[in-house]
Amino acid sequence: MISVEEACQIITAHRINWGLETIPLSFASRRILAEPIVADRDFPPFDRVTMDGIALYTDTPLTEGLFRIEGTQYAGESPQTLTSRGSAIEVMTGAVLPLHTNTVVRYEDINVSEYSDKRFAALKAPVSPQQNVHHQGSDRQTGELLLPPGLRLGSSEMGILASVGKAEVLVEKKPRIALISTGDELVDVSAIPLPHQIRKSSGYQLAAALQEMGYASDLFHLPDQPESLESKLGDLLQNFEILILTGGVSAGKKDFVPATLEKLGVQKQFHKVAQRPGKPLWFGVKPGKNAVFALPGNPVSTFACFLKYVRPYLLRETLTPMKAVLSENIVFKPELTYFLTVAAAFNEEGRLLATPLKGSGSGDFANLLACTGFLELPSDRSVFEAGEVYPYFSFR
Ligand code: AMP
Ligand code: MG
Repeated sequence: MISVEEACQIITAHRINWGLETIPLSFASRRILAEPIVADRDFPPFDRVTMDGIALYTDTPLTEGLFRIEGTQYAGESPQTLTSRGSAIEVMTGAVLPLHTNTVVRYEDINVSEYSDKRFAALKAPVSPQQNVHHQGSDRQTGELLLPPGLRLGSSEMGILASVGKAEVLVEKKPRIALISTGDELVDVSAIPLPHQIRKSSGYQLAAALQEMGYASDLFHLPDQPESLESKLGDLLQNFEILILTGGVSAGKKDFVPATLEKLGVQKQFHKVAQRPGKPLWFGVKPGKNAVFALPGNPVSTFACFLKYVRPYLLRETLTPMKAVLSENIVFKPELTYFLTVAAAFNEEGRLLATPLKGSGSGDFANLLACTGFLELPSDRSVFEAGEVYPYFSFR
């Protein structure tokens, strides 16, 4: 049996390149960028006025002064030119700074008056040279790298892509994902189960989690029957790049999933991880073609394994995990990493406090309603004290 760390390393080492595609910018949110994005012009691209008011020229601080207003410079217009040092040009936020000016004074800091058809601005607050001007290239310069490949595109990255003119963007292709429930006890959501049956719920739970990550998936249900499993899984391996199975991976007499996958040429990378819940986890690949995660069927185990292993695999996450503070003492004797279900919330001091949830084990998935995530307690200890800090992975 391998450790959680080893399992993570093996999974990361078996990332498959799904290829690249160019897509319209409006579809790029949550996709993984596959090209470097550089500034095609300076940020900002011109000396930009940051306040509504007047633009003038001064090399030294001013405490008073009267300036004739020569004209008005609006955003979106090419720059006007100041003709005399004693004058100013009215300017609007976002306008190009008029030529021969270097300083902007807000309306709040001037009095505007009219005298024989001419308009004048009198300063009523101190003025520093260069104030209220956002200088060309002061944020980023032409040619500078803004976004590296491999980045997952969020809202701020989308804004950057638009501002550098990427109407189309090169991204990694998304794998097609099959979510496969196994088990003869499972019936459809719309069915009235017999007393010994249960409705298949995990597929919907995982599909929703995938959807939140920007991935579509298709749901399947296969029986605990070797021939049928083999033929259906064979088809699914042809039509999907990622298979996420639930159930049938433990030591039960009808747990046919691992043997069937190997028979179909999926190379086992590991089976069983020193963790609770989720010990029977199985992972294998068809090199360059499929990644197969076979998760244990208990819904809490399924979900913990999905969040700990499948989600980072798909998101190509390399970030150090979030940490949270354990709020009460916990004793856990087995030499296993313990994924403790917790309700975590920030306290008054801004620390993330994780409160353990009392539940009845890995089948108790109603417990997930109060749960915000899992606190990862290491296998080399059995006593964990309130106030200690541990890795935390969340789904809220
Ligand atoms: P297994 O890993 O196949 O031994 O299943 C363990 C437990 O998880 C059994 O009680 C199953 O009924 C339950 N289970 C398996 N698959 C699902 C599913 N798709 N939805 C809800 N419960 C499931
Ligand atoms: Mg089963």
